[in-house]
Amino acid sequence: MQADLELFQKISDKLLAHEKKNGVVKPIKAEKLLDILNLDLSHEGINQNALESLLEEVVLSTPRTSTKLFFNQLFGGRNNKGTLGELLAVMLNNSMYTYKVGGPQVGIEKVIISKVCEMLNFGENADGTFPPGGSMSNFMAMLMARDAYNRDIKFEGVSEKMVIYTSSASHYSITKNAMFGGIGINQIRSVKVDEFGKMIPEALQEQIESDINEGLKPFFVNATAGTTVLGAFDDINAIHDITKNYENLWLHVDGAYCGSVIFSKSYKHLVDGVEKADSFSFNAHKMLNVPLSCSILITKEKHNLKHSFACEADYLYQTDGDEYNLGKTSLQCGRRNDALKFWTLWKSVGTKGLESMIDQQFNLADTARNYVVNHPDYKLYSYRDSISVCFNYKNIDPKDLCNSLYEDGKLMVGYGEFQGEVFVRLVTINSNNETDDIMNFFKVLETYVEEKESKLISV
Ligand SMILES: *Cc1c(COP(=O)(O)O)cnc(C)c1O
Repeated sequence: MQADLELFQKISDKLLAHEKKNGVVKPIKAEKLLDILNLDLSHEGINQNALESLLEEVVLSTPRTSTKLFFNQLFGGRNNKGTLGELLAVMLNNSMYTYKVGGPQVGIEKVIISKVCEMLNFGENADGTFPPGGSMSNFMAMLMARDAYNRDIKFEGVSEKMVIYTSSASHYSITKNAMFGGIGINQIRSVKVDEFGKMIPEALQEQIESDINEGLKPFFVNATAGTTVLGAFDDINAIHDITKNYENLWLHVDGAYCGSVIFSKSYKHLVDGVEKADSFSFNAHKMLNVPLSCSILITKEKHNLKHSFACEADYLYQTDGDEYNLGKTSLQCGRRNDALKFWTLWKSVGTKGLESMIDQQFNLADTARNYVVNHPDYKLYSYRDSISVCFNYKNIDPKDLCNSLYEDGKLMVGYGEFQGEVFVRLVTINSNNETDDIMNFFKVLETYVEEKESKLISV
């Protein structure tokens, strides 16, 4: 083991050195991958030296998500303390289903959950879990809503047309979850959004009424705190003013992207009213920069978690009681420890340290937005209070621009679409970045365009 840990250290050091020199690797064409890297598996193992150099080659040619040139998705940067916690979790290799096997790690998970419940003002019956990602947090919320609507469904299956409401700008996991949960895609109502990408509450109200008139059964409304493209926040108070008038209509807040604003005094107003929701989720691997994945789902009444997810299993639950046997409220059976990395970070920087990460992301977004607004070659498509800064540059086709920047190994950034407009989406989620790094983003982009302009497609 000692030798392999040393090897780990050696390869990590190389990676860090390479990242410093080159924030982006030139991508290997997918069709060429198996010709270029020896990924094939065979009957005989390879010797230690060959393994070392192969591992190094694979690591150094893998896309770099932790550098100052990665703006492609809703995560990025390498948080030291989060990484430390994650590495220790790997060494410990617990499974979080029972106290017998998780011990203090179970306590760590429970402490995080209860702290978040408290921050949300969810009351003393609240509880939560660490699902395997934001999509699965939404899935668990939807299943609790389904089973709370009709307590027999877990025995009998779904036999009515149950309806889900979510905005047209919400995450595609809602669609997948309707497929998985026996609800069906046709029972999803895609509620219209306004020009800022927020759900229009009146449109929600009309749709619910018309479905009830048709004899359908509304059971789940999903509000989004930070839509995936524009980073828009649905108005939770306005949506709750509608949902509260219907029995068993569950309100979930999908905060996978930006729900972590609850950690910031300056930005938590963006989720005003969240304490009225039935459930809330956020990804600590997005705004809080801990390694993938770390998603937390909180619900107001813990009996709903139990009702939907607890099953007996004599071969597993043998000691300590349900409060500490977290498998009684989780989606999986064996479950990796996603809590330690978040706890290590939180413990080390305190809540105020998490707050400054969030604030920094909004500051960086302000910097980027100001730059775009003040430079006539740019057009802005996004709004304040969002860490997604959407723009186009010099009428260059954003898809071609982003793809060319990637293929030439210059910069990782993606494009998005809203109401028929396509644009570059710069995500300022890496809180290790500073103003200069954002300026460098624009510089790399502009220099590239200058060199390549004639070859790039215009719109
Ligand atoms: C990222 C995201 C999700 C999905 O989270 P995963 O952890 O990738 O499954 C869900 N909803 C929103 C709004 C997101 O931005």
